[in-house]
Amino acid sequence: MSQSKRADCIFCKIVDKQMPAKVVHEDDRMIAFHDIQPKAKTHVLLIPKKHIESLADVSKEDVELMGELMIKIKEVAIELGVEKSFNVVVNNGSLAGQIIPHLHFHILSGWSGREKV
Ligand code: 5GP
Ligand code: ZN
Repeated sequence: MSQSKRADCIFCKIVDKQMPAKVVHEDDRMIAFHDIQPKAKTHVLLIPKKHIESLADVSKEDVELMGELMIKIKEVAIELGVEKSFNVVVNNGSLAGQIIPHLHFHILSGWSGREKV
């Protein structure tokens, strides 16, 4: 990973506190924050602090990190009170809708189209 890639990356800037974010969890390896343009009632992004572009770029050295991220998805869902009903989405590559090339897990809950009226 080159330094220039990180310097251009919005999510690396959030990690480095060069850009603000509404943080719901942070530790030494990952950070979760509210999406700036929520597509559901609850819409949080969980990212590794390490700049990995997408799931297509993870390697064996990321095994532990990827496991921790999976567990953190559950913990964030519990923290937000949505653990009974949530979606996890990862877009990989621009043709798949990925806009920010830094791996992120969308944690979504409360789609308006599925709400009882
Ligand atoms: P993607 O399409 O890459 O899977 O998703 C990128 C997500 O990042 C989008 O849902 C978009 O609203 C969100 N996003 C883009 N820029 C920012 C930002 O500066 N701050 C936050 N919190 N979210 C962002
Ligand atoms: Zn990045």
